[in-house]
Amino acid sequence: MGWYAGVHRGTGYKSLLSTQVYDDCHQIIGRYVKADLDKNAVILLKNTTEAINKLAYRLSLSAKDIVISTVMEHHSNDLPWRKQAVVKYAEVDEKGQLDIADIEKKLKQNYPRVKLLTVTGASNVTGHINDIHYLAELAHAFKARIMVDAAQLIPHQQIEIKENHDPAHIDYIAFSGHKIYAPFGVGVLIGPRDTFLAGEPEYVGGGTVNMVTRENVFWSDLPDREEAGSPNLMGAFALAKTLQYIDEIGMEHLSSYEGELVTYALQELKKVPGISIYGSKPRVGVISFNIKGINHALLGAILCYEAGMGVRNGCFCAQGYVRKLLGEKEDIKYLSAYKKKEIHRLPGMVRISLAPYNTHAEIDILVKYLKKIAQNIK
Ligand code: PLP
Repeated sequence: MGWYAGVHRGTGYKSLLSTQVYDDCHQIIGRYVKADLDKNAVILLKNTTEAINKLAYRLSLSAKDIVISTVMEHHSNDLPWRKQAVVKYAEVDEKGQLDIADIEKKLKQNYPRVKLLTVTGASNVTGHINDIHYLAELAHAFKARIMVDAAQLIPHQQIEIKENHDPAHIDYIAFSGHKIYAPFGVGVLIGPRDTFLAGEPEYVGGGTVNMVTRENVFWSDLPDREEAGSPNLMGAFALAKTLQYIDEIGMEHLSSYEGELVTYALQELKKVPGISIYGSKPRVGVISFNIKGINHALLGAILCYEAGMGVRNGCFCAQGYVRKLLGEKEDIKYLSAYKKKEIHRLPGMVRISLAPYNTHAEIDILVKYLKKIAQNIK
């Protein structure tokens, strides 16, 4: 890998080549979600969290502006908005599905103050898939824009953000490379150029400017002005190559195999005594559950140490949603547990994530262990 050099700087062969590769990555990544590259900027960042923080900053919202988020969101699509605007949270029902009527009500009641509806494409807790294009039409009908946190949807389903004039188009989308089999450390924010051309970049410095005098700064064009400093060339290249590879295989094949695995896993998990499985269809390959009588952390540890399985447990950076699914209306009891460091009293679930490299046999092993654990609960 000794062929690379810094991008957008040198005139040496390696530097020119790196510049070409890096610029091309933007096109490849943008085209993967069918972005109109004349109207949209593809900004390469560290991850989804950085992308959403950047957008929250760059929308230049005022303290009176409203952002509608939802109870389903990952903290990365919640906390950045709290810093910039008034956030109203659309409800979810007891199955964990978005209450669309509540979103519509909030858009209507708060018109024209709502500037953005921000919503996850798929939940990282239940895997539940939201109808992002329907939600886009709804937001646009009230002159609001929509931002889709695609961190969980991108590895499971083909996403098309559609032409900007289509009422169902997605204005902003963010996702991380590591969620779709590329390395950690690269993420994407795509959105209309006008958003990023208005005002000044969030981070300033090398790469963001064309001309600097003592008195004046002339910003460079997009995406450079939003990608301050030396970029993650290797991450960008790996992500672009991964997306091309997925295109070659065909996301529809990956999704359909994963769909089969999810159906099989749900069917088999339901046979485990005392199990509660959260969420409802349609869902990506994410399933969270609890078994009556055993703490989620202990269950996760047993699966790791005895079955050699890497599951996750806890609230998955979506504490509000997890508490809601567990039927807890009161946060106070958890606050006191947290303050007293009584970890065993903190709520949570165990989550499995299925991808095309998983097999039916692995699900059988998981279920076998879960049954054994359930049978041994006193
Ligand atoms: N949004 C969702 C739905 C996620 O699942 C995650 C990560 O798990 C994020 C946002 C944050 O992604 P990152 O940690 O790559 O910024």
